[in-house]
Amino acid sequence: MSDVHSGGCQCGALRYQFRATLRDIAHCHCSICRRTTGGILTTWLQLDGHLPQQQEQIP
Ligand SMILES: [Zn+2]
Repeated sequence: MSDVHSGGCQCGALRYQFRATLRDIAHCHCSICRRTTGGILTTWLQLDGHLPQQQEQIP
């Protein structure tokens, strides 16, 4: 399995790509996650290592 992961939102305004070893992934809809993110659920990733601090907005 590749360590390169990519995705984005449905409208295409946000895209991401990162290289890291994925250890775990989960969706949560508890009241704390809903209050923290403002969404109806939150997706959590647990990675080995760290992500580069780089952001780019795709027009
Ligand atoms: Zn939660």
